[in-house]
This record gives sequence, structure tokens and C-alpha cells, in this order.
Amino acid sequence: MAPMSEAQRGMVNTIREFVRREVNPVAQHMEHDDEYPVELVERMKELGLFGAIIPEEYGGLALDVSTYALIIEEICRGWMSLSGILNSHLIMAYMVTTNGTEEQKEHYLPLMATGEKRGGICITEPNTGSDVQAIETRAMRDGDDYVVNGSKSLITNGRHGNTFALVTKTDINADPPRRGISIFIAEKGPGFNVVRDIPKLGYKGVDTCELSFEDYRVPGGNLVGGEEGKGFYQILSGLELGRINVAARCLGVARAAMEEAVNYAHHRKTFGKPIGEHQSIQIMLANMATNIQAAHLMVLHAADKKDRGERADMEAGMAKLFASEMCMQVTIDAMRIHGGYGYTQDLTVERHFRDAPLMMIGEGTNEIQRILIARHLMKDFSSGDFLYELGL
Ligand SMILES: Cc1cc2nc3c(=O)[nH]c(=O)nc-3n(C[C@H](O)[C@H](O)[C@H](O)COP(=O)(O)OP(=O)(O)OC[C@H]3O[C@@H](n4cnc5c(N)ncnc54)[C@H](O)[C@@H]3O)c2cc1C
Repeated sequence: MAPMSEAQRGMVNTIREFVRREVNPVAQHMEHDDEYPVELVERMKELGLFGAIIPEEYGGLALDVSTYALIIEEICRGWMSLSGILNSHLIMAYMVTTNGTEEQKEHYLPLMATGEKRGGICITEPNTGSDVQAIETRAMRDGDDYVVNGSKSLITNGRHGNTFALVTKTDINADPPRRGISIFIAEKGPGFNVVRDIPKLGYKGVDTCELSFEDYRVPGGNLVGGEEGKGFYQILSGLELGRINVAARCLGVARAAMEEAVNYAHHRKTFGKPIGEHQSIQIMLANMATNIQAAHLMVLHAADKKDRGERADMEAGMAKLFASEMCMQVTIDAMRIHGGYGYTQDLTVERHFRDAPLMMIGEGTNEIQRILIARHLMKDFSSGDFLYELGL
């Protein structure tokens, strides 16, 4: 694996500095107070992060996926909720970039790059999450518009965002049902209602909302790609990126927990020596570091494949699966190393521990990842010798 390029290191260092100076001092109390980070959002706009992966011609930074993953890691070393504000916005931007009509790209991407339009993804509904084909939100053609009715649940940026990739059924009789799914670029307006903010275990400070659509009108020109029935495939392309960035989030959270554990292991003494000299603590630290490095390489491998223009769904799924299980283990071990103080809100390790489980659920649960990985293996690598066939 090639070391970071000069350009990547420059970008990573800028974000590291932003996190050290501006995020770390406020993250813990803002998260506990469930306070929306208005000023940090403005700073992220100034840093160009809302346009991180948007092409230059539409006003973005045009970062490759590998660099994007590296900066998400850095942000999550400080406060994971900030990455939530960016990630679903950028998944939507990516969907528009790869699937949108030229008109849609020219209109929306520059506004998304500055953060004037703040995006999100509306897939999940009260009655369905993993089974995307079972969505019930309907969009019916009416003249030049579509009229949307239905509900969405657990939508990141639901309150503070203003422009969403809204996943609907335009044909409820399609067989298979995925061929009836279409995505619209939906701006807030009459009939687009934010019903409530959903309280959460962790990942506080960022809004997760229930939305309802009541005779909500969206112009036909906002149908992504201009053709009905393509939505399911458009979601899949966005989710590949989403899974890489969830895996990168895990790395950031796990690295923060590990750094705190190492520091504590140096300073906390029991039985006359630093706890880092007790073998059982050393075993936890060694496992943490080894698994973090393995996850890091998996994320960079999946990102690199995507940067080379190849499909990376199996690799992105594996990275997300491994990194999220790793993050859960690292954060609980970090808490263990901190003894009783790790369980208190005086230290940040409890926040990392509360943030970790989300990554086993978001962008497709780990149960679903396992199913997808196994399907790929059986279909594309029937000998089972996938590493050789991938040329690794
Ligand atoms: C904080 C937060 C933010 C979110 N943000 C967004 C967002 O911005 N946009 C959005 O659209 N969604 C969002 N989600 C929703 C998230 O993507 C879903 O929660 C997730 O996809 C799982 O769907 P579900 O909750 O309906 O669980 P279900 O699909 O009901 O699954 C329940 C359980 O059954 C398991 N399961 C389901 N099917 C199978 C199967 N075939 N085989 C084995 N096990 C199975 C699942 O793994 C899980 O353990 C967010 C969720 C959270 C918690």
C-alpha cells in the first residue's frame, strides 16, 4: 500500500489541526447537551468540506475517495457527529454526480459544494429499513410534477438539511419491485414535514428525524437521471461510498479511544507500576492496534478500488463489517482500561463507546453485509480463492 501522497498529507493535516483546535475543546459538552454545532458547520463550509468529493467543475474540492476516507477518520477522532452532517450530504452529491442529468448537476452540485443546499438520503421508513424494495412512499405523476405521499424515518440532517434524495415507488406493480423505485431531488416545501427529532443513545448533536410527505409536489425535472425505475441501482452506487465512509468513521472513533487508552496506560499506576506494564492490559492494547491497522488497510483498499473506477461493493462491505465490529471492541476495551473512570462522563471514552454501535447498523446492518459478501463470493469467486482472483 503506497504511503500518503503529499497532497493527501496536506489535506489530512489541515483537518487534524481544525479538529485539534476547534472540535476537541467543544465536542464533549455539545454532544452531552445534544447541541447542533452551528459554528462548526460554518467552519466546515469554509474548509470546503461540503464539496469534498464534488468535481471541480461544479465548485467542489474533487478529492478522491481515499483522501475523503482519511479526512473522515480525522474528523471522527474528534467528534463523529460532524461526519454525519457531511456524509449523507455527500452520498447524495455523489448520487447526483454519477446519475443526475446535466441540468441537475449544474443546478444542484455548486449549491451543495458551498453548503447552501444541505443534503440527506431518505430511504428508511417506519415499516422497512434493510428491505429497501418494500418501501411504501409513493410518487404519482401529475402533469409536470410528481405528488409524493408517505413517511421516512431515522433521516440524518432531516431538520437542518433542505434538499434530499427522496427514495420512492413510482410503480407499485413492478416485478421485481426494485424496478419500480425512483429517486427525486426533494427540496423542503409545502407537504414536506419534519415530524420529530428522534432521541438517540449516542451520535448526539446531529439531527435524526421522522419525516412525512403529504401531497408533496416535486417537479418532474427532479427525477434523478430523468428516468423512472432506476432508483434502486442509484442507491447501490451511493451505498458503496457510504460504507467506505462508515468504515472510516469507525477508524476515527477507534483511534481516539485507543489513543486515550494508551495515554491512560502510561499514567495510571496500580500495584506500583503503570497499568500498561500489566500483561492483560498489554494484550488489549496489542489487539486494538492490530485490528485498527487491519481495518485501515481494508478501508484504503476499498477506496483505492473505487478511485480506479472499479466496483468495490464486496470490499466496501467487508471494510464496513470488519471496522464496525473492531470499533465496538476497541471502545469497550478502552473503557475497561480506564477502569471506573471510563464509565463516567468526565472522560471521552464513554462517548466513543456510545457512538460505536451505530456503525454496525447504518448503511446496511452487519447481518446484511454478511449476506452480500457471501453472495458475491459464491457468484463472482466460485473457487473461493478470492484473494488470488483479485490479484492480492
Ligand atoms: C442514527 C441513525 C441515522 C440514520 N440515518 C439514516 C439516513 O440518513 N437515511 C436513511 O435512509 N436511513 C438512516 N438510518 C436508518 C438505517 O439505515 C436503518 O436503521 C438500517 O438500514 C436498518 O434498518 P431497520 O432499522 O429498519 O432494521 P430492520 O431492517 O428492521 O432489521 C432489524 C434486524 O433484522 C436484521 N435483518 C433484517 N433483514 C435480515 C435478513 N435478510 N437476514 C438476517 N438479518 C436480517 C437486521 O440486521 C437487524 O438486526 C439511520 C439510522 C440511525 C440509527
